[in-house]
Amino acid sequence: MATNKRRKKNTLDYKKIALLSVAVLVVVIAIIVSVSSKDNTPDYEYSPTENNQTNTVDDTKPSIVPPTNSATEPSTDKTPTEEPSEPVTSAPITKSFYDAVKYRSPDAVTADIFKHGRNLMLLNRKYELPEDFKWDLVYWSNGKHVDAMYLNCEEHNSTKAVDKAAYQPLKDMFAAAKEAGVPLNLVSAYRSIYLQDKLFTRSVNYYKGQGLSEIDAINKANRERTFSGTSEHNTGLGFDILEKGNYNLTESFENTAQFKWLMENAENYGFILRYDKDKTDITGIMYEPWHFRYVGVEHAKKINELGMCLEEYIDYLEA
Ligand SMILES: [Zn+2]
Repeated sequence: MATNKRRKKNTLDYKKIALLSVAVLVVVIAIIVSVSSKDNTPDYEYSPTENNQTNTVDDTKPSIVPPTNSATEPSTDKTPTEEPSEPVTSAPITKSFYDAVKYRSPDAVTADIFKHGRNLMLLNRKYELPEDFKWDLVYWSNGKHVDAMYLNCEEHNSTKAVDKAAYQPLKDMFAAAKEAGVPLNLVSAYRSIYLQDKLFTRSVNYYKGQGLSEIDAINKANRERTFSGTSEHNTGLGFDILEKGNYNLTESFENTAQFKWLMENAENYGFILRYDKDKTDITGIMYEPWHFRYVGVEHAKKINELGMCLEEYIDYLEA
């Protein structure tokens, strides 16, 4: 009996000790947890700022909150900071995209730029590309059609594209020049409105950084660049051409054998020097010995014969 009692007492003691140990362990864990959560507090204090920054960069992106494993982790403070999303580089052409272009010419009027046919479309500081303009571009490298999806993106501009009508004449002209011992270099052809706007915005920001007001910066930028949709490069019918190996668009190009050859032969392929020295008042563009425009053989010859620029020629046709 006595042995049994003692055994019972011993069992009770063991149970008490075990319960006590568990209780102590729980208290210790509780203390550790509470201390460690207090230690983390300073880190969390930075999070709301980080989250605010994330939200200013991109409001549309949903915050990703990871599942919380511990009750001590405040879920709202654990939103990871996301990198700002990359700019969309392959946006399809839509009206809203065109409208989103920031810098449009305040003087531009909506005119029928196709009045005298597509090859004679007149684009300048006054006449801009219509919103529903249909590009018909092929790749300069192989003449294949350019997917419409790539027309208004930046990445496309690394692959040259030209208007389909100008493609074969341009190829023929380059081949003839090569044959004549004056190989040419197509420096720039089609340029998307996206890129045009980006270049314009860069100029505006540059002048704003120099202390100019927004409107003064725009006016200054407008002197050296054209507004989005008013450049011939936006159509695929305007081309910057230099001698092979040269990429610097400078007036000294007029002293090359290539320029001399182009002045004598470009019209036979349908191209005219678009921004001549003595026409800057009419074109609104400085002298550019490198910029040639496709208008078709018949018009090119007539324009040169009359000694007119495209603006004058359009007036002449309408007179
Ligand atoms: Zn040009």
